[in-house]
Amino acid sequence: MKPAAFRYHRPSTVAKAAAALGEGEEAKLLAGGQSLVPLLNLRLAQPTDLIDLSAVEGLDRIERERGEIRIGAMVRQADAEHDDQVRAAVPLVAAALGHVGHPQIRARGTVGGSVAHADPAAELPAALLALGGEVVAEGPDGRRTIAAEDYFRGIMTTSLAPDEVLVEVRIPEQSEDSVWGCTEIARRRGDYALAGAMVTARANGGAIEDSRVVLFSVASVPLRMPSVEKVLAGRSIQDADVLREAAKVAAEDLDPASDLHATPEFKRHLAGVVVRRALEKAAGARA
Ligand code: FAD
Repeated sequence: MKPAAFRYHRPSTVAKAAAALGEGEEAKLLAGGQSLVPLLNLRLAQPTDLIDLSAVEGLDRIERERGEIRIGAMVRQADAEHDDQVRAAVPLVAAALGHVGHPQIRARGTVGGSVAHADPAAELPAALLALGGEVVAEGPDGRRTIAAEDYFRGIMTTSLAPDEVLVEVRIPEQSEDSVWGCTEIARRRGDYALAGAMVTARANGGAIEDSRVVLFSVASVPLRMPSVEKVLAGRSIQDADVLREAAKVAAEDLDPASDLHATPEFKRHLAGVVVRRALEKAAGARA
């Protein structure tokens, strides 16, 4: 099938893109097109106005500043994945991006597109939450910053207003004593995960501090797991019993809905497995 007819816009600034969003009857932004174009072709999305972000200035930068990494919305996922600053300052992000689809998809798909699309099975939103990142949005009233905790609202639903453009994501650098792990289970390499986990923490002489444990593809949003973080607090990341206990609590505390690919029981089982594996990776990895 071909997309339904739409008006095509190619603005040169974020302000013009936001204005076109506000003026269009049912306007949509186009970034890498890896999620939107299939929806257009299947006519599951039929926008009246399509606003192509490819000519907008200033959205394709990666900057390391004041202890954080800022990744522009139009930075391609593959460019962020292989960027030296990203790999050094937020290695969890580079690892997470390595799980997104296939290299061809990452070569077109953008960082902003993934975070705006907010698929509950997507890796980047989970990494953003695990690292305590922020989303910067611009609309007719100017710019605002939204913490990842307040950004994801439901399946492919975020707190972006209909006339706001996601401009960049900001992610605090992982500290010297940071440990982290990222893992997922998918049917085939490159598929969306059936379940995945991201873990960040500080290992103070082996004892776990300030952990953030996030599950994805098990709920309508990436899910932080405070009960698991509580199990880990102050205990050794090298202790297999601690990791097993954390995995058990993750599985018990989850109330997943069934989907096309897995029953709730299977999702709970997978959640325990990915939490344990992510912690095992964290036990062996340093930022
Ligand atoms: P687009 O498709 O252009 O846009 C997606 C949505 O975001 C649209 O609604 C658009 O209006 C909105 N949007 C885009 N940019 C902005 C912005 N700056 N501000 C506000 N709204 C915006 N993703 C994963 O995370 N994990 C996977 O395993 C995975 N596997 C895939 C496998 C296949 C075969 C395919 C085709 C895609 C897969 N994807 C996967 C999706 C891919 O990561 C997409 O790149 C991503 O979801 C959307 O990014 P995009 O730049 O292509 O955005």
